[in-house]
Amino acid sequence: MQNAALAALGMGEEWSYEAIEVEPDAFEERVRAMPGEGFAGANVTVPHKGAALAVADDLSAVAREIGAANTLSFEGGEIRADNTDAGGLLNALPDSPRGRRALVLGAGGAARAVVWALVREGADVDVWNRTELRSSHLCEELGGRSVADPAQDSYELIVNSTAVGLGGENPFVELPLSATNFVPGQVVVDMVYGGDGRTSLLTAAEAGGAAVVDGIEVLVQQGALSFSVWTGHEAPLGAMRAAARR
Ligand code: NAP
Repeated sequence: MQNAALAALGMGEEWSYEAIEVEPDAFEERVRAMPGEGFAGANVTVPHKGAALAVADDLSAVAREIGAANTLSFEGGEIRADNTDAGGLLNALPDSPRGRRALVLGAGGAARAVVWALVREGADVDVWNRTELRSSHLCEELGGRSVADPAQDSYELIVNSTAVGLGGENPFVELPLSATNFVPGQVVVDMVYGGDGRTSLLTAAEAGGAAVVDGIEVLVQQGALSFSVWTGHEAPLGAMRAAARR
């Protein structure tokens, strides 16, 4: 996806995006070596999103408040940490969540970015998590209300930010949702991506008349924001989307 973006802007000769696997105890050393090796920045994923904050000289407000960074950039010998997961979710929505009733499922890293983004945009946010203690803590820190028994059809926006569906789990068994209780006018987002993004959650939501956003679109939108952080250019979304879906 990132290499497709670089190629689309004619930057593919000079720039490239590559995967680097690193163990947690080697993370800091690896990151500190990168500016000297010519890297402009990096995406960081699990389990390094917290360590990415700790290694940074400078944090964006969003990375600091969420407590995780997915994007590092190297400039003038300094490491800057940012979080584009929050902005990526907002950009993937069909319209602003301001004033909307929203239900976020989950209390892990993805949910933290989603709740932060929705609260900050002025949505009225409920959070459900299998382990309720985690959603209570998340809401104390970031806002929103931890709920045990959400009324599915009362929400205008539902975001699945649990890992349910990733390993073939049935969302209508593991989550407080019914396949037949989605309603027209709702927007349903499934952060889980894989295959063509068509999860059983989204298939049921669409059948109920809801508008759906899949995890690939959220992935593309966070990647597009990271691309701009590193290159200073607006990301070619069409090229990124096509590459991600391929
Ligand atoms: P995480 O920190 O490990 O959190 C996992 C969450 O899923 C927790 O809330 C956990 O609940 C819940 N969960 C796991 N299995 C469950 C089950 N069987 N029933 C109910 N809840 C269950 O993971 P994460 O980083 O937040 O990622 C969550 C998902 O979002 C992953 O599928 C990831 O790929 C996806 N994601 C997508 C994007 C994107 O750009 N599209 C970005 C980030 C993440 P407990 O607290 O009870 O364990």
